[in-house]
Amino acid sequence: MVNIAIDGPAGAGKSTVARGAAKALGYIYVDTGALYRTVALYVLQNGHNVHDSERVKAALADIRIELKFVGGVQRVYLNGRDVSEEIRTPEVSMGASAVAALPCVREFLFEQQRRIAREKNCIMDGRDIGTVVLPDAQVKVFLTASAEERARRRYREDVLFEEVLRDVQERDYNDSHRAVAPLKQAEDAVLLDTTGITLEESVSRLIQCIKERSQ
Ligand code: C5P
Repeated sequence: MVNIAIDGPAGAGKSTVARGAAKALGYIYVDTGALYRTVALYVLQNGHNVHDSERVKAALADIRIELKFVGGVQRVYLNGRDVSEEIRTPEVSMGASAVAALPCVREFLFEQQRRIAREKNCIMDGRDIGTVVLPDAQVKVFLTASAEERARRRYREDVLFEEVLRDVQERDYNDSHRAVAPLKQAEDAVLLDTTGITLEESVSRLIQCIKERSQ
């Protein structure tokens, strides 16, 4: 199987760029952030504290997550219920960043990610794919952009730009300073900085990079 690992900070455009490249190459696109988000959604909906590792660990026994790929598009199911849209709120984003720091959660999701990669040609995106989940991926890319540019891309009319920027910076800090599987560029990863380049340009650079390295 061909496995491509894409890592990088929140809002770098990983999902859009990786999805575009996966479509062009005929691979499935796996968004691993959705798994962490789904754990956070369950924990929040059940009134638990996302930082309470004992509580979260106990909750994991009641969580079954499935990823389904319909026409190459990923849908995520929590105990049989499609939560693909529900996991996209800012509250769940921050919750995901918190539960992702817990070793029990990373362990819980590890095997599921490995299994998908064993079974399918895929482009998998996350924070620790090239470093931990798929250390033998044929191609590794670290996709990033400046924090200001990432906040600009996330910005919507109903929130203050400063708030979006603060969220982005807070998640960057959490993700790159946690003890387990912190966000960092794998030694053998190619750096793709999308600051100032269009989405189309980013997709074509990623495709080019994959083609050059996966032969
Ligand atoms: O990519 P996305 O923003 O949806 O990820 C949500 C959160 O899940 C991230 O902030 C990060 O803390 C966590 N995550 C992770 N490892 C991954 C994917 C996501 O820790 N492979």
